[in-house]
Amino acid sequence: MFNHEDLIVYNRGEFLHFKDAHLSIANTGFLYGLGIFSGIRAHYNETQKKLYVFRPQAHFARLRFGCKVFGFKNFLSGMSYENFTSMLSELMSRNKIREDVYIRVSAYSDENRITPKFIYKDSLSAFLYPLGDYVPSSGMRCLVSSWTRVDDNALPARLKSHGSYVNTAFAKSEALNNGYDEALFLNSRGFVVEGSAENLFIVCDGTLITPPKSDNILEGITRDTVIQFAKDEGIPLVERSIARSELYRADEVFLTGTGAKVSPVTEIDKYPVGDGKVGPLSARLQSLYQSVVRGEVQKYASWLLEV
Ligand code: PMP
Repeated sequence: MFNHEDLIVYNRGEFLHFKDAHLSIANTGFLYGLGIFSGIRAHYNETQKKLYVFRPQAHFARLRFGCKVFGFKNFLSGMSYENFTSMLSELMSRNKIREDVYIRVSAYSDENRITPKFIYKDSLSAFLYPLGDYVPSSGMRCLVSSWTRVDDNALPARLKSHGSYVNTAFAKSEALNNGYDEALFLNSRGFVVEGSAENLFIVCDGTLITPPKSDNILEGITRDTVIQFAKDEGIPLVERSIARSELYRADEVFLTGTGAKVSPVTEIDKYPVGDGKVGPLSARLQSLYQSVVRGEVQKYASWLLEV
């Protein structure tokens, strides 16, 4: 495993050493959380000796959407999908990556000014991080957070903006400080919406249920991947709001995210989920996801970019 601080990073159109990539203490992106980011994973297939980036197109589209709302003109006009993927490829090849890696890409407000507004010049940065399991993968313990998920008309979760992760930090810290692995957010209407950095699925009587996009969630790429798996495998799936007590009634619960992958939840608020063990549908989707991201399932090869 590498130390990310020893690597080459990308910033303002250049590749340079981590230690030479600097932002000012007056940078507006830093001062007010004015950035749009994406966390992307690339997986190394040891047998094939190949490194695959998972769903770069979907990450690029989500970044572009955030940049549109933030008015980040440099990204919108200067960063085509081809530029984006060649930047990712070069980052990986310059660092000679031959292992699983997490890629953090940020478009950020890049002027040294005081007023929080969207019309400043934007820049793009990217660095690599050695991320193993972001949450336990064989059954995690969750807490329904006392913090509410940000409302769409206050700070849209959909944008994946730097600033909205203050909300995440409150919930995640509360969960960790109380001995749990992860936090589950309710929205202001009291429905369960997502984990602190993951989307949520529950299984009730063989049907997968996940909150709709209008419930203040980030439209996760792993969520979309699992929805596609459900369609392809003929697993019934409903997108609807989920009441808190449905978590305690569910046969299975799992979280999805680039960091979290597909990870089962076996306990919530000290109640066992189902019989307290990893359920069959969670295990099946988790294992399918792991094979797909490593380039072992031809049917989903179009989701992968070989670098
Ligand atoms: N919700 C939140 C709040 C997140 O931070 C993430 C992680 N990006 C997700 C959901 C999952 O999104 P994705 O599957 O695109 O990583």
